[in-house]
Amino acid sequence: MQAQRRVIIFLGPPGSGKGTQGMRLGEALAIPVISTGELLRNECRAGTDLGRQIGAILQSGQLLADSQINSMVAHRIAAADCLHGCILDGFPRTVAQAEFLDNWLEQSGGAEVTVFDFLVSVDELIERLGKRRQCPKCGCIFSTRGEPLANRMTCPNDRSLLVSRTDDQPDAIRNRLQIYQRNTGPLTKYYRRRGYHRISAAKSPDFITEELLGVLRPQSSNLTAANLVLAAHAIN
Ligand code: ADP
Repeated sequence: MQAQRRVIIFLGPPGSGKGTQGMRLGEALAIPVISTGELLRNECRAGTDLGRQIGAILQSGQLLADSQINSMVAHRIAAADCLHGCILDGFPRTVAQAEFLDNWLEQSGGAEVTVFDFLVSVDELIERLGKRRQCPKCGCIFSTRGEPLANRMTCPNDRSLLVSRTDDQPDAIRNRLQIYQRNTGPLTKYYRRRGYHRISAAKSPDFITEELLGVLRPQSSNLTAANLVLAAHAIN
């Protein structure tokens, strides 16, 4: 019998560490991380029709229309690499998107859904986002906290100069936090009764990775033994 698909959903405001934990967990569990923000930024970088349409929306921190994002995600999670599961970072972001995902999963053989809600104070978020830098090539995320030469930091993978995202400027940050609370806040209630876990995102990245794996391990009947060994190594 084929193991059930596992879908891990990350909820949490911008800057709560979803991107960092997504990379770690995806590697540890050998499942793809689907970041809708990254998919959209790639469209912009590649200068596609969609990329040209959405550039201004992304920069302002507003959300794209549900229909636009739903079809993009459905197309991505239908790919073969998501057959056993995936991590969704940045989706769903509205109740309508969550309903769409539930319907899609039901029609595609079902899934075991685990939701991690990353909680952190607004002050900490503003501090983190102001110091967040990203590699424009590989998408890796870094912090300039405690870095004297912050403006000259380069990516250890490909030596590109790290940049601040255009939506990590103070006005856009405040806007994104308000939009998050208004649109994504209600998802807490939507998911609360099934596989929902609150994560204190103020803790260290290693502590949080351990906590996420601790939740997933006992339920990991559909993860192969090899993946679980990998998961254990990844946090050591
Ligand atoms: P954040 O750091 O705000 O969590 P992301 O990288 O996840 O940012 O997303 C960047 C932008 O992409 C959002 O501000 C929004 O414009 C758009 N976006 C990403 N995911 C969604 C979604 N599920 N629904 C609508 N818009 C989205």
